[in-house]
Amino acid sequence: MIDLTEQQLTLRAYAHEWAVELAKHSFELERAPDLVHDLLDLPGMVFLARTPVPDEYDRDPILLDGHRYSGGSMERVTICEEFAAADAGMMLAAPGPSMSGVLVSQLGDKAQQEWFFTHVLERPTWTFFALTEPARGSDAAALETSLTPDGDRLLLNGAKRFIGNAARASSGVVFARVKPGPLGVVAVLVETRLPGFTATPLPTVGLRGNQVTDVRFDNMEITHDRILGAHLSPTRRGLLGAVRGLNKLRPGVAALGLGIARGAYEYVSAERRDLTSWERSQLDAMGRSIGAVRQLVRRAATAADADDPALGALASAAKSRASRLAEEVTLEALGFFGAGARLQHPMLDKYARDARAVEYMEGTRNIHHLNVFQALVQRKLAG
Ligand SMILES: Cc1cc2nc3c(=O)[nH]c(=O)nc-3n(C[C@H](O)[C@H](O)[C@H](O)COP(=O)(O)OP(=O)(O)OC[C@H]3O[C@@H](n4cnc5c(N)ncnc54)[C@H](O)[C@@H]3O)c2cc1C
Repeated sequence: MIDLTEQQLTLRAYAHEWAVELAKHSFELERAPDLVHDLLDLPGMVFLARTPVPDEYDRDPILLDGHRYSGGSMERVTICEEFAAADAGMMLAAPGPSMSGVLVSQLGDKAQQEWFFTHVLERPTWTFFALTEPARGSDAAALETSLTPDGDRLLLNGAKRFIGNAARASSGVVFARVKPGPLGVVAVLVETRLPGFTATPLPTVGLRGNQVTDVRFDNMEITHDRILGAHLSPTRRGLLGAVRGLNKLRPGVAALGLGIARGAYEYVSAERRDLTSWERSQLDAMGRSIGAVRQLVRRAATAADADDPALGALASAAKSRASRLAEEVTLEALGFFGAGARLQHPMLDKYARDARAVEYMEGTRNIHHLNVFQALVQRKLAG
C-alpha cells in the first residue's frame, strides 16, 4: 500500500480546494475555451502556470504551508487526480511549463533552460508539445516534419495534429527529422510569434478545455541554438532522449483517468442515496477498482521518482489501466440515472466524454499493452 506523505497530503488538500473553485466554470470553458484567459487569477491557475520550475530559475517559488512543490512524479499524480476529479479539461487548459518544461529540463542546455523558464515565469504563458502528426500517431518514431539546413539557418516544415494548447501558446517543443532513422529526430524550441507558424483549433467532444490543434510549420526559421540537447550524444537527445521524460510524465496522465473515474463515482455517491442492494454492490465495486488503480498509478509514480528501470512498463500499465477504468466507471455511472442520464446530468456526460480522450493522450491502450508485454517477455517486469 503506497500512502501519501504529510507534504503530499498538504498538496492534495490545496489542489482539491483550487480544483473545486475552478470547476465552477467548467461548462463555460467547454462552450468558449478562450474563457481561460479570465480565470488566470484563480489560485489553481496561478499554481499550474508557475510550476514545476527548477529551483535555480524560480526566485519566488510558491510555498504551501512551507512546502515547495517539486514536480516529482508522486506529487504530480496527487494533483492530477484532484484536478481531474473536478475537471480534467480545466487543468489541461492552464498555462505553464507542462510537458515542454520536462523536456527542456531534461534535454536543454543552461541557456535554453534560462530562456524557457524565465519566459514562463514572466507572465501566464502557454506552452505546447508537438510530436503527433496527421499520419503518424502511434508510430511517432516515423514522423515526417523536417528540419533542413538553409545557409546558416534551419527551416522547419511539416504538420502536427492534436497538439494541446498550441493556439494559445507562445512557445513549445517540436520533434522534427534531420535525417532518416530513429537517431535522426531532434527536439527544437519554437516561438509561435515567428513567421511560418499556424495553429488551428480542432472541434472536439472531450477535454475541450485543452483545445487540441492542427499545427503547420511553413519554412519556419530556426536557429541552431534552439535544438535541444545538441550538447548531448545522439542517443540521449531527440526522441530517444525524450522517452525517459515521457515515461516520467505518463503516471500523471494515468492519474487524469483515475481522477475522472473518481469524479464520476463521487457524483453517483452524492446524487443517488436510495440505492438497491445490487446498485450498492455495483458502486462498492467501482470504489474498489478506483482504489486498486490508484495504487498502480502510485507504484508507477514511485518508480519514476526512484529512476527504477521498470518505470516504462509500470507507467504503460498504469496509463492503460487508468484510461480503461475512466471509460468503464463513467459509463457505469451514467447507468445509475437511466435513459436520460447524459442530458439530465451534464457533469456525468462530461466525465464520460473526457474519459474517452484520455485513451489517446500519451499513447493508446494497445500500444501500452505492447510495452507491458515486451517488458514481461524481456523479464524487466515481474508478472
Ligand atoms: C486530448 C488529447 C490531447 C493530445 N495532446 C497531444 C499533444 O499535446 N501533443 C502530441 O504530440 N499529441 C497529442 N495527442 C495525440 C495523441 O498522442 C495521439 O492521438 C495518440 O498517440 C494516437 O495517435 P492517433 O490518434 O494518430 O491514432 P493511431 O495511431 O492512428 O491509432 C488508431 C488505433 O490503432 C491502434 N494501433 C495503432 N498502431 C497499433 C499497433 N502497432 N498495434 C495495435 N494497435 C495499434 C491504436 O491503439 C488506436 O486504437 C493528444 C490526443 C488527445 C486525444
